[in-house]
Amino acid sequence: MTSRPDIVLLVLDTQRVDRLSCYGCSPETSPYIDALAADATIFRHAASPASWTVPAHASMFTGHYPSLHHTVQSYSVLPKTLPTLAERLRDSGYFTAAFCNNPLVGVVNNGLRRGFLSFLNYSGWLTSRPNQIGVGSSLIDRYRQWFKGLLTAIVCRIQDAFARSEFLLELSFSPLMVPFWQTALSFKGNTAKSLNDAALLLTQRRDVAEDQPIFSFINLMGTHMPYDPPRRFAAKFAPHVRDNKSAQRYLHHFNSDIVGWYMPLAKALDEEQKVTLDGMYNSEVAYQDELVGAFLEKLRASGRLDRTLLVVCADHGDHLGEKQFIGHSLSLYNELIHVPLLVRDPGGDFPRGTTVERFVSTRRVYHTLLEAAGLADESERKLTLAQSVASDADVGTAFSEGIPPQTIINVLRRREPQLLSERRIDQTRRQARGMLQHIPHRNGPAIGTTPFGVAIGEELVKPKTPGREQLHDDRRRRDDLGE
Ligand SMILES: [Zn+2]
Repeated sequence: MTSRPDIVLLVLDTQRVDRLSCYGCSPETSPYIDALAADATIFRHAASPASWTVPAHASMFTGHYPSLHHTVQSYSVLPKTLPTLAERLRDSGYFTAAFCNNPLVGVVNNGLRRGFLSFLNYSGWLTSRPNQIGVGSSLIDRYRQWFKGLLTAIVCRIQDAFARSEFLLELSFSPLMVPFWQTALSFKGNTAKSLNDAALLLTQRRDVAEDQPIFSFINLMGTHMPYDPPRRFAAKFAPHVRDNKSAQRYLHHFNSDIVGWYMPLAKALDEEQKVTLDGMYNSEVAYQDELVGAFLEKLRASGRLDRTLLVVCADHGDHLGEKQFIGHSLSLYNELIHVPLLVRDPGGDFPRGTTVERFVSTRRVYHTLLEAAGLADESERKLTLAQSVASDADVGTAFSEGIPPQTIINVLRRREPQLLSERRIDQTRRQARGMLQHIPHRNGPAIGTTPFGVAIGEELVKPKTPGREQLHDDRRRRDDLGE
């Protein structure tokens, strides 16, 4: 047995908190994650620092808010001055492995892969295959590996260019390109395979020393659009779609209309459209939940689960028509920012069956996992999720920062300039969430009175120019806010 635990960070990309039954969703969508929650500490009021993939992952990987790590666009690169979670764990002796289904994390050359000794992609033009399991040693095998490596390098450069170029991005939105995106690019990756590969590494530990702990980062895209769940799930959660031609037409159009995944809506969805989207989304939640359940069962059966610190969370949620938004990245509403967060801890810092009500930011996954590995310094220890309110350096407040993707804004400016200005979509903003007495700064009326939003202050902030000098600490940033 290792003296330090294995660590698994399971990010359910685009998982809305209100669609997990352990957070109150009815009908029951997530029996396996619910069972895990009953055996873990569940955070009721976790907030993502950002509303889309790149800045949200950069925050979990560095412990900083987006205005500090500056990785806020699809073309941003994480500053080398900020050590990542994987780098610190690797440097302390962990075997670091990623099983990633989101190309914005695994394919674009933005620094989020830093620190991983093994990084497997399941999305994109050319998925990578596990190199710890089953790579032969013959000349032919080695040639195949070399050739695949060469091809991967070329393809990664092309995909990287798509993320950075408005022209290529807009080209990729064209209806002609949609079938290509969805099939050749395996847009949502392969949830089952990535979980299976991660379980193999954690249970069989090939090429990993018996006493070497493993850090596994897993990103799943099962609940991201397009929606095409197995029939048995659609029959349960969206039964009307089977015999309803107009619902089928709407779903087909929705799945093919990639621009529509990002555009604000000019008018609200009608009832049938809303029920269809909700039902199909819930079907994907339930399907992914079943696959996560199988993954957990493999760890449990091998005895590894009780030697593993497991964190399950989302990078952000998704709009399914609420407030006339679809998708994510253009708002800071609770549909995007309020996220699930569970910690299952064999070490005892996170008691099983416990509920935490205070507001926390998912950036603190960074500090929590460093502490589990024995690497957190004194200031980092104050930000672990295990802290009580009294010793919590964030004093029960979580910030979310909205810096919309410039590539999307530019497309909107050309196609829907009126919607862009009416909805103030191109403006950078920051919100604080917490109990009223803890909100350090409120500018304007509180917005959002859903169960999550006890109090929300919002202000518009000026984008900052990235620079080393701006990487000041969080205390100073809160001072800037006028605490
Ligand atoms: Zn995401």
